Amino acid sequence: MRLSIDADRCMGHGRCYSMAEGLLSDDEEGFVAERGRVIEVPAELLADAREAAAACPEGAIALLDSASAADA
Ligand code: SF4
Repeated sequence: MRLSIDADRCMGHGRCYSMAEGLLSDDEEGFVAERGRVIEVPAELLADAREAAAACPEGAIALLDSASAADA
């Protein structure tokens, strides 16, 4: 599973990295540091990734199936 963060949608609310500290981090301005990127989610952090995606009020976080993403 991969997680993507839309840099245009992210408004820096900070909910995602608060809920998924092992996966995401904040930058000096309070935005998620991984915005604009697609990152691989380790199996042990999948629940955290789902919670972070659900908690983002801007809908900036999407979870992508690794197999289909690899085919793209
Ligand atoms: S919760 Fe959403 S809007 Fe807030 S920092 Fe994370 S990705 Fe950005």
